[in-house]
Amino acid sequence: MVRLVRAGSSYVRSAMFPIKNERTLEDFFINRFGRELYQTFFKDYTEKVWGTSCRDIGADWGAQRIKGLSITKAVKHALGSMFRRDGDLAQKHTETSLIERFIYPKLGPGQLWEQVAKRVAASGGELHYGWRAAELRVADERIEAVRFDNAETGESRWETVDYVFSTMPVRELVASLGDALPDEVRTYGAQLEYRDFMTVGLLLKRFRIAERTLGKKSLPDNWIYIQERDVKVGRVQVFNNWSPYMVADPEQIWIGLEYFCNEGDELWEMPDEQMIALAIEEMRRLEFIEAEDVIDATVLRMPKAYPGYFGEGYKHMDEIRAALDGFENLFLVGRNGMHRYNNQDHSMLTSMVAVDNIIAGRSDKENVWSVNTEDDYHEQK
Ligand SMILES: Cc1cc2nc3c(=O)[nH]c(=O)nc-3n(C[C@H](O)[C@H](O)[C@H](O)COP(=O)(O)OP(=O)(O)OC[C@H]3O[C@@H](n4cnc5c(N)ncnc54)[C@H](O)[C@@H]3O)c2cc1C
Repeated sequence: MVRLVRAGSSYVRSAMFPIKNERTLEDFFINRFGRELYQTFFKDYTEKVWGTSCRDIGADWGAQRIKGLSITKAVKHALGSMFRRDGDLAQKHTETSLIERFIYPKLGPGQLWEQVAKRVAASGGELHYGWRAAELRVADERIEAVRFDNAETGESRWETVDYVFSTMPVRELVASLGDALPDEVRTYGAQLEYRDFMTVGLLLKRFRIAERTLGKKSLPDNWIYIQERDVKVGRVQVFNNWSPYMVADPEQIWIGLEYFCNEGDELWEMPDEQMIALAIEEMRRLEFIEAEDVIDATVLRMPKAYPGYFGEGYKHMDEIRAALDGFENLFLVGRNGMHRYNNQDHSMLTSMVAVDNIIAGRSDKENVWSVNTEDDYHEQK
């Protein structure tokens, strides 16, 4: 109760006296939720994700990730959900962060892309796997050809191109253009930073926190955010809840522990057995499980999971973007492709908008960059 009153009064204070020059992510959170809720629910998790203080991350990250969410909307949504009918999938007027139901492929998101690949092939398209775009050749401010390397066979080949849709990390794209870009843009591009990510999957025969708190076999959540500072794990997923088809034995529970790190750091380099031991120990310390509940485990590493909204390179993102947009037939799309915190829907939309532009003969790329930006926020800025 005391904490609730404290959270309420700190929210009112922030609403009445907002930080005027909202520059950092910390300012963004405090202005929308108050200092108390920021410290309780946002600060530690966000700092685990980015490995840096919320004071060193730009407010624009909040604008994209949290969008129009505010405490008033969250409270209204919570009250409304007591009366809402189950099964409403549309949720058109719901803030992204508050969405409760969504359609999910039976075997996970990869299944969607397997279907897309089949359709592309069925309509005569060709897909070439295992080739890395390594160098782009420029003529008359257009990309004329791309060199592809095949790591498995050691082959390289040049292909002339009409259009390039790039989903490669902007840092690599800039490098692949070599001296077709001004020196300062090459320097800024090389300074773009990323945050990397590891998942430790644990297959459980018992999920003690669910038994103890709910008297049930499992928890109903998809994600559980871990705010505690004394453990490294940032978030826990319950894969059964994404889709029951992703777990072979419905009596067992697959959980995924998310660790945020930098490629090459201590966590990233930790041998799999040690990483699994750390995960089990942290779950035990948080009283989620006992060590004997674990039947199987696996570790997955995902480089460049998050494009960084900090560092020298990011400060010059506008210049990098302007230089790359100067190549008429080059379209930056997706997440790392645009160095933007785009989710799958935004990523797909950027490509769809780019295709529409080509069909319409539109050469500026403003509308591609407008996907997933908070118009109000940018107008205020
Ligand atoms: C941990 C995590 C959780 C997420 N959860 C969600 C979620 O719940 N919902 C959601 O909507 N989104 C989620 N996302 C985001 C989602 O994964 C991305 O938005 C989406 O995958 C971006 O699509 P993309 O095509 O830009 O990039 P990717 O899916 O990464 O595809 C890029 C492709 O480009 C290829 N490539 C890169 N460089 C080269 C090169 N030089 N030559 C040739 N090919 C190259 C890569 O191999 C890859 O196939 C999550 C992301 C992470 C990391």
